[in-house]
Amino acid sequence: MEPESIEDYYERIAAHVGADGRLPVAVEEMPGWDIFPYEVDSLRLKPLQPPAATEPARRGEDAAACWCANPVDPDSDSLMWWNERWKVDLGFEGSGLPIMAWLSPLVHCDLGTMPPAVAAELGSLVGTMAGAIEGLPSVGRAQLAKYGDGGAHLHLLLMGRPARMLQLRGSPLLDWEENLPRVPSEVLASNGRPVARALAEAHGGWIGPAAQR
Ligand SMILES: [Zn+2]
Repeated sequence: MEPESIEDYYERIAAHVGADGRLPVAVEEMPGWDIFPYEVDSLRLKPLQPPAATEPARRGEDAAACWCANPVDPDSDSLMWWNERWKVDLGFEGSGLPIMAWLSPLVHCDLGTMPPAVAAELGSLVGTMAGAIEGLPSVGRAQLAKYGDGGAHLHLLLMGRPARMLQLRGSPLLDWEENLPRVPSEVLASNGRPVARALAEAHGGWIGPAAQR
């Protein structure tokens, strides 16, 4: 059997929608767990939409129009650490978590198109960051995400899940994050500093303004 088409995938799902075009909320699954941010009684899914005609272009799909066409700005407020091949930005536009840091290679690629040398270094960088994030007093666990539906250039999100706040465990962490009050930027900087230092120690490079305020 060949891998199925998206039309077949969609049709199988669409067969389960009710008269209002919605799938039922899976109360026996994660929506019913204690880590889910919303109460099931007041919840309904949005009407299911069919596949679009094409995948939309993402920001920086063309390398010439991507941020990586310009050198790293060492004065950038969001820059936490960088070296000759990688950079880490802090989420200064707002974070409800103790730390949210974006790791990107400076060479233009996505996860599926990484040059072998970039792929080889990625694991070690993620390990350094996760260890330093889990060393923060307000963090219980480091989480790692790769989405890439908005920007074409590879960016991995490392998040610090607040320590002992067990409701915030698992994949709903980002949904919680959107609803949490913002962490002050000076607190984000002091949490980012040990992570930037660990990166500089293990991978060279420089600590940026976001970890120095
Ligand atoms: Zn790029």
